[in-house]
Amino acid sequence: MSGPRPVRAPRGTELSALGWQQEAALRMLQNNLDPEVAEHPDKLVVYGGTGKAARDWRSFDAMVRTLQTLKQDETMLVQSGRPVGVMQTHEWAPRVLIANSNLVGDWANWEEFRRLEALGLTMYGQMTAGSWIYIGTQGILQGTYETFAAVAAKKFNGTLAGTITLTAGLGGMGGAQPLAVTMNDGVAICIDCDPRAIERRIEHRYLDVRADSLEHALQLATEARDARKPLSIGLLGNAAELLPRMLAEGAPIDIVTDQTSAHDPLAYLPIGVDFDDMASYAAEKPADFTQRAREAMAKHVEAMVGFMDAGAEVFDYGNSIRGEAQLAGYDRAFDFPGFVPAYIRPLFCEGKGPFRWAALSGEASDIHKTDKAMLELFPENESLHRWIKMAGERVHFQGLPARICWLGYGERDRAGERFNDMVASGELAAPLAIGRDHLDCGSVASPYRETEAMLDGSDAIADWPLLNAMVNVASGASWVSIHHGGGVGMGRSIHAGQVTVADGTKLAGEKIRRVLTNDPGMGVIRHVDAGYDIAESVAADKGVRVPMTEG
Ligand code: NAD
Repeated sequence: MSGPRPVRAPRGTELSALGWQQEAALRMLQNNLDPEVAEHPDKLVVYGGTGKAARDWRSFDAMVRTLQTLKQDETMLVQSGRPVGVMQTHEWAPRVLIANSNLVGDWANWEEFRRLEALGLTMYGQMTAGSWIYIGTQGILQGTYETFAAVAAKKFNGTLAGTITLTAGLGGMGGAQPLAVTMNDGVAICIDCDPRAIERRIEHRYLDVRADSLEHALQLATEARDARKPLSIGLLGNAAELLPRMLAEGAPIDIVTDQTSAHDPLAYLPIGVDFDDMASYAAEKPADFTQRAREAMAKHVEAMVGFMDAGAEVFDYGNSIRGEAQLAGYDRAFDFPGFVPAYIRPLFCEGKGPFRWAALSGEASDIHKTDKAMLELFPENESLHRWIKMAGERVHFQGLPARICWLGYGERDRAGERFNDMVASGELAAPLAIGRDHLDCGSVASPYRETEAMLDGSDAIADWPLLNAMVNVASGASWVSIHHGGGVGMGRSIHAGQVTVADGTKLAGEKIRRVLTNDPGMGVIRHVDAGYDIAESVAADKGVRVPMTEG
C-alpha cells in the first residue's frame, strides 16, 4: 500500500521512461512533490492552499508506473489527479492530457467541491500544481517583480526606494513578495501567522529579517526607508488583526496588497483562532470556520480600503480577498482594483506572460547556459537583462534548476527553438521542460483577476482557455491541462496550461515553434477581440491573423 514518502525527480540522462517526452512529465510530476518545492509534500499539496499534484498516493504511484511504460504514440488521461486511461494517439499528440477540478457551473462552489473531494472523486489542482510545472517560489517571483516595478513606474518615479509596502502571506507564492520589493529597492513588512513560513523564506533568502513585534517591524521599516535601503521584514501574526491596528496607529505605509490564501476560506486564519488549532478547526467545523474566516477577511479588506483612503497605492493580488470580504457583507471591498487591470493587461496585449523552463539534468549549469543564451537573444530588452542578472545572483533553486522570465509573442518561440538547438548540440546536459503558469495572456478566464474589467465586458467568457488548450494540443505540446478554480477559487476561474519538452530532436523543434507561437498568440487574439489597441497593433505588426479584422 502506498503512502507519504519523500519524492525527488531523478537527475541525469538515464531514462526510466520510454522517451524524453514521458520522462519529462514523470520528472516534473515528481519535482512538484520534492520537499524543496512543495509546501506540504506528505499531503501531495504543492502550493496555493490545497493545490495538489496527484489525488492520492495510489494515484501518484499509478501515474509514475504508467508514465514509465507509456509509448511514443500513447496518451495518458488524468482526471483530477488520477490516471483514468491510456489511449493510442500519435507522436504529435500530447503524452498527457489533464483535466483538474472542473465542475458544472451550478455546482461550482467550494461546498460541493469539498463534498466530492471527500468522496475521493476530485482534487484541487490550483494552476501549476496539478499540471506539474510549479518551480517553487521563483515562478511567481518574476511576475511579482514585474508588478512592483509597474507600481513603482506608475506612482513612485520608477523605484520603490524610500517606500514601505505592507502585505501578508509568505506561502509558496506570497513568499516571493519580500524579494520582489527589495529587488525594486523598497522596504516590505510581510505578515504571516505561520512561523514556519517566515523561517522558510529567510532560509531561502527571499526574506531578510524577522521582527519581534509590530513596533519592532515599524522601527526597522522606517529606518530602512529613511536610509533608502531595501529591507524585507517578516512579522508573525494575523493580518486581519494587525492591519486594522496599523491603520489606527497611523503606520506610514505607501503600498498595500495581500497574498494570504484568501481564495480558500478554509486556509485563511480567522480572528481569535490560534494558528496551531487552525487545521483541526477547519476540518471539524468547515461551515463555522468559513464564516469566521470571511468575517476576518472583511476586517482585513476594510483596513486596506482605509490605507487607500489615506493615500496608499492598494491592489488585490489575485487571491479573491475582495470577493470573500464582500460575501461577509463589506460593501466597499471592490473599491481598490485587481493587479491585472491596474498593471499587467498592457503586457497581456503583447502576448507577454510567464515563460519558464526547467533543466531535467538537475544541473544548475544548464540554467546558467540558458540565461546566457537569453541575454544574447534579446540584447535590447533591458528589464529582461536586469531580471536575469538578479535572478542569477539571488534566486535559490528549489528542486530541478529552473528559470522564468516574461516573454511575448514572437519571443517565446525563438527562445524555445534556441533551447532545443542547445540540447541537440550537447551544450546542455539533458532536455528542458518549457512551460508556463496558467496565469497567462490568453489561457485564463478569471473575472476577479486575469480578466477583471475587460474592455468589452467579456470577463466571464471561458471559451478562451478552452480554445487555448485545444490549440496547444493541436500544435504538439507535450502535456496540456484544463483546470477550474485556480488562484481565486471554485466557481471563479477556468484556465489552461501547456508544457513542451525540448529534447533536441527535429520533431521537438517543429512542435516548439508551433506551440510557442500559438500559445502567446491566443493572448494577442483574445485582447484584439476585446478591443485593445495595443493588441491590434501587435497583431498587425507581427502578422497574427484575426479573421474579423480582415477583409
Ligand atoms: P499558501 O497557502 O502557500 O500561503 C498562504 C499563507 O497565508 C500561509 O503561509 C498562511 O499561513 C498565511 N495566512 C493565512 N491566513 C492568514 C492570516 N489571517 N494572517 C496572516 N497570514 C495568513 O498560498 P500561496 O501559494 O502563497 O498563495 C497565496 C494566495 O495568492 C492564493 O490565494 C493564490 O491563489 C494567490 N496568488 C495570486 C497570484 C497572482 O495573481 N499574482 C499568484 C500566486 C498566488
